[in-house]
Amino acid sequence: EKPKHGNGGSRILVFVRLRPLSKKEKEAGSRSCVRIVNQKEVYLTEFANENDYLRLKRLRGRHFTFDASFPDTSSQLDVYSTSTSELVEAVLQGRNGSVFCYGATGAGKTFTMLGTVENPGVMVLAIKDLFSKVRRRSCDGNHVVHLSYLEVYNETVRDLLSPGRPLVLREDKQGIVAAGLTQYRAYSTDEVMVLLQQGNRNRTTEPTRANETSSRSHAILQVMVEYRVKDENNNVINRVGKLSLIDLAGSERAIATDQRTLRSLEGANINRSLLALSSCINALVEGKKHVPYRNSKLTQLLKDSLGGACNTVMIANISPSNLSFSETQNTLHWADRAKEI
Ligand code: ADP
Ligand code: MG
Repeated sequence: EKPKHGNGGSRILVFVRLRPLSKKEKEAGSRSCVRIVNQKEVYLTEFANENDYLRLKRLRGRHFTFDASFPDTSSQLDVYSTSTSELVEAVLQGRNGSVFCYGATGAGKTFTMLGTVENPGVMVLAIKDLFSKVRRRSCDGNHVVHLSYLEVYNETVRDLLSPGRPLVLREDKQGIVAAGLTQYRAYSTDEVMVLLQQGNRNRTTEPTRANETSSRSHAILQVMVEYRVKDENNNVINRVGKLSLIDLAGSERAIATDQRTLRSLEGANINRSLLALSSCINALVEGKKHVPYRNSKLTQLLKDSLGGACNTVMIANISPSNLSFSETQNTLHWADRAKEI
C-alpha cells in the first residue's frame, strides 16, 4: 500500500533510494554495506574499519524504517509513483507540494530528479503525469502550466532557463519570489526533458572541474498549475497549485542533525542553504513556533512549500558502497530525523 499524506498534510514522507554499485566502485573492490528489506527497512552493516573491507569484521548492523525504501532494482517509475504522484494529484486541487532529493555527491540525486533521456526522473515523470491528468480532466484548455527552473549557489539565485545576472528575491502578495524569473509556459512533455537538461547544463560548475556540476548547487524546478473553477454561487475563481522539485547540494559537508552542531558549523565554509534547511526541519520536528526560513535563499524560496499545509516528500539517496559508509550513515540519520515531522 502506498504511503500517504494525511488530509492535514503536515507530515513529511521520507523515502530512501539505494543506487546500484557503480563500475568504479566495483573496480575499487568495494562491497555493499546496505540491504533493503520489505521495501521499508534499511540495514546498514558497520565494519570495524571502513577501509579494511577485506577483513570485513562485522561490528553491528543498524536498521532504519522509512515510509518506503527503494532497492537498487527500483525503476524511475516505481520511485515516481510511490513518492510523488500523490502530490501531482494535490497540485491539481490547488495545493502546494515539494519533493527534495537529499544525499552526498554521487548518491543519485540528479539521476532521481532529472534522470536521462532513456530513463527520465521524477521531474519529467511528474510533468508527464500532470499533462495526462489535465487532459483527462478538461477538454477546454482550462489549465495553464508554467515552469521555472532556478539555482541557488553560494547564496546567489540564478535562472537556469535564461542564464544571466543573479536574481533578487522580493516579497509580494504570493510570498517570496525571484524577480524576473522566467515562467515558461509548457504545452507538452516532449519539450520539457530537453528544456530541463539544457537548464541542468547551466548549473554552476566547480571551478577546478570544468563540465562537472557543482556539488554545492541546489536546483529548484517549480511547476505552477493555474485553472478556473466555479464556486457554489457559479462565480469563476482562479486556483493555483505549485509543485517544487528540488535537487539539493551534496550533503557531505553539512551533516549535523542537532541545533548546537549546526550553529558551530555556520561560520565554516559550508553550504548555508543546506544548513538552513536542516534548521527549519529541526524547528518543525520540535514543533517550534518560529521556523528560521529567513536564514537562507533556499528556505526563503521554499517557505510556502515546507511544513504547514503542504505535502512534503524527502528522498534520501544513498550509495551501497562501504567506501561511502559514513556519508550513508549521516544521510540515514538525517532522514530518520525528518520523519518525525
Ligand atoms: P548526485 O546528483 O547525487 O551527485 P548522480 O545522480 O549524478 O548523483 O549519480 C551519480 C552516478 O550514478 C551517475 O552516473 C548516475 O547516472 C548513476 N546513478 C545514480 N543513481 C542510479 C540508479 N538508480 N541507477 C543507475 N545509475 C544510477
Ligand atoms: Mg547531482
